[in-house]
Amino acid sequence: MPLVKEEGGFYDRDPREYDLKEGVVFPGPYRASINSLGHQLVYYLANEVEGVIAERFVSGLPRSVDGSLRPRDLDLMLVSIHYEGQIHTFLRMLHDWGVPARKEERGLQIIAGGPALNNPLPVCGIFDGVVIGDGEEIIPRLLKMVVEGASREAISSLDGLYVKGKRRVKFQRASMEYLPEMQIMAHFPEGKNSFLLEVSRGCSQGCRFCLLGWTQRPRRDRSLRQIEEQIEIAADLGFEKIYLIASDLLSHPMIADIMKKILDEGLRLSTPSLRADEVSDDVIEVLKMARVRTITIAPETGSWRIKLAINKPMENGEIIDVAKDLKDAGIRKLKTYFILGFPFEKQEDVKESAKLASDLSSIGLEVEASVSQFIPKPHTPFQRLPLERPEIYREKVKIFELLSGIRVKATHPGRNFVQAVISLGNESLGDVLISASSGPYRASHYRKIAMEKGVYLDYVYEKNRSLPWIRAVSTGVKRDYLEEEVRKSERFELTPSCNITCTDCGICPMRP
Ligand code: SF4
Repeated sequence: MPLVKEEGGFYDRDPREYDLKEGVVFPGPYRASINSLGHQLVYYLANEVEGVIAERFVSGLPRSVDGSLRPRDLDLMLVSIHYEGQIHTFLRMLHDWGVPARKEERGLQIIAGGPALNNPLPVCGIFDGVVIGDGEEIIPRLLKMVVEGASREAISSLDGLYVKGKRRVKFQRASMEYLPEMQIMAHFPEGKNSFLLEVSRGCSQGCRFCLLGWTQRPRRDRSLRQIEEQIEIAADLGFEKIYLIASDLLSHPMIADIMKKILDEGLRLSTPSLRADEVSDDVIEVLKMARVRTITIAPETGSWRIKLAINKPMENGEIIDVAKDLKDAGIRKLKTYFILGFPFEKQEDVKESAKLASDLSSIGLEVEASVSQFIPKPHTPFQRLPLERPEIYREKVKIFELLSGIRVKATHPGRNFVQAVISLGNESLGDVLISASSGPYRASHYRKIAMEKGVYLDYVYEKNRSLPWIRAVSTGVKRDYLEEEVRKSERFELTPSCNITCTDCGICPMRP
């Protein structure tokens, strides 16, 4: 069992009184699970359906966190997959629990969802269904059908649920009205966990490499009333800190008021990565009042050429000015995210990124850089671009480390390769995933298994490869819009954010 005491937010029910016993699975450790709002939302959504008892499962535990159910007691599992490595972890969990990974070899139904499954093809032989997009509306509907004894065929026909062979399943966008009135509260040696507050979902900026920016568009803001209610709930429940969640936090028109309300309720706050070009004087003032000491920003690159190509035009001078203002407001530590390995990136561009990191640290802030490799993601304008070879990426990381002179944490090229393989794969990958899960999440191991099974993996390095997921999933963004975005990137041309003007990508029904 987890070595923490849960104080609230969980259900204490007798499974014998429920028709459907459901496991809400988070492939990862307990501590990570309570920092996942998606995992908690599924837990509450499921328990609110009549006749359903849902308990939480995390890796390393033979039974539920809630304590009464074992995997073999379950009628259904709902699994959240936020990134590709969690597929590997989940398959390991199934193995440890003695549950077959292939769907036709087991009676237990397993439905999955989450951003890493926007291309569901590699896992369609494992999961009985994959929720495409937001789960708030489809999950209760699905559970109700299961409780009422609906056939598998009837469940398969649900809108927004991908099952093998289905075509153009529409990405689900929830109304954003649902939020539970409780959250799991646990005690760790360093204190209580934070209350998770999603301020908005999606992003209006249009960075050409970003998965959430293209699947979760347009940005949908929660109302100030709903957010204020949640802040009051957090205070009433005894939480001490609120972690704000959003891909584009500072685009919420009431963000400074939201932060002030958190402070007025006597709570502390922390924020996700902020866009430096949106940090206003009001926001700096509230961060100062809140005595925030660490801020994260994501410049991605220091090269103006690459900024134009990826559609994230933030001038280095502007980023440095904001960092200075943050320092004056009491910020001590700046976490920065950089991406290396865009196929059109040259050594000169990497040097400019390292220089930006170095210039930021010369302000007198403690600067930490997280460097990741560009992974082409399905449904984005860059979905056809190749992954950079590991030796080139390694070389770029070295240059960055050497010239920036700061602490750098870089992602591992082998794991980046596996991530790209899964992101861009098709149905033939299913057997490889299942067999490889008994070993390490490492390129050499996946390559060995793939070779034994005769499955080709080097498609990730090819330019203009096929896009098998577009027959399975439709995000609503027009194909020619995505292609024009690639051409604009080659011309180093920008597309304005939806905050400025609508460029008619095809998502919003009422726009031109
Ligand atoms: S239709 Fe317009 S406003 Fe809506 S997401 Fe697309 S570009 Fe943005």
